[in-house]
Amino acid sequence: MAERKADDSPFPSFLGLSVFYWKSLPFCLILRKIINVMLKEKINNLLAEIEKLKAENADQIEALRIKYLSKKGEISALFDEFRTVSPEQKKELGQLLNKLKTDATNRINEMKESFSDKLGAVADLDLTRTPDPIELGTRHPISLVRNKIVDIFSRQGFVVADGPEVEDDWHVFSSLNFAPEHPARDMQDTFFITRDPDVLLRTHTSCVQSRVMMKQKPPIRVLCPGRVYRNEAISARAHCFFHQVEGLYIDKNVSFADLKQALLFFAKEMFGEETKIRLRPSYFPFTEPSAEMDISCDLCGGKGCSFCKGSGWVEILGCGMVDPNVLENCGIDSKVYSGFAFGMGVERITNLKYKVKDLRMFSENDTRFLDEFKSAF
Ligand SMILES: [Zn+2]
Repeated sequence: MAERKADDSPFPSFLGLSVFYWKSLPFCLILRKIINVMLKEKINNLLAEIEKLKAENADQIEALRIKYLSKKGEISALFDEFRTVSPEQKKELGQLLNKLKTDATNRINEMKESFSDKLGAVADLDLTRTPDPIELGTRHPISLVRNKIVDIFSRQGFVVADGPEVEDDWHVFSSLNFAPEHPARDMQDTFFITRDPDVLLRTHTSCVQSRVMMKQKPPIRVLCPGRVYRNEAISARAHCFFHQVEGLYIDKNVSFADLKQALLFFAKEMFGEETKIRLRPSYFPFTEPSAEMDISCDLCGGKGCSFCKGSGWVEILGCGMVDPNVLENCGIDSKVYSGFAFGMGVERITNLKYKVKDLRMFSENDTRFLDEFKSAF
């Protein structure tokens, strides 16, 4: 083999090898081979590393670019080492090294592109845009009016009491002083579920009052809103179910004047400050004395119109002082306590407030009708 000159040596001087060793051919060849193998291994390791490169943001991508591709990066360092490779290895290692540089460049560009896609997607997202509107529904007019009634009496100290819709004869009739032969017990008026024992759908919410009286000692001031059932032919003016709100106040020295004051307050709050009330004697089994209450017609201001049939007054509820028999039936001493009760149909009040002509519209679920109440209350 031909001898090499020292200045031909591809080995860097920092290896500290003397001219003497450069001229030692077998040693030189072994060293070159070692360097070639080491370089090849480094390139392969980096190729594997680059395949798995990952970054979560632009800063990390830039850091990877600097690490591998900058002038002082790992791949540039390999190119420096490449200068020491023996000529017969240059082709193979050169190709491998070029592949490494291309792969690294491609991988980093790939990551940049996918990250800018994500940035683009974020840029398209306008958080200030008005979202698609979700159409709000409306409360049912019966609910609106019932809530208003409850609110007005709540301000007078009444609290809401609840009870079952499937009731027994005692709570619906007997405890409330209905005579055994009272027509309300007739099949024509009441939906019976069983007879003897009588189980039925309540015909009024007064049964909630009798339940409260049996359970609670006076003073009692409750409001009983709820659905009731009567066996009636369905028409524009009658339905087999409707809603009531009844009230009961029992304490010592409760008088008819208290009843009138409570109801006058309700009428003014519900129908307006100018509203007047009128109490007419009437009869109910559970109150004595009993009365029907009218309010002045708000359409004609009491002058008389077709709505109030020329009378200037419109009937809205029944009321009276609780019959002593009812108090005793429910375990309350009628010589110590007295009380008043009242009851109104929510549909009736809703008709007066919103002039709904047909009672059936409340239960038809026609959204055109229900939409009319969007702005109410
Ligand atoms: Zn009128």
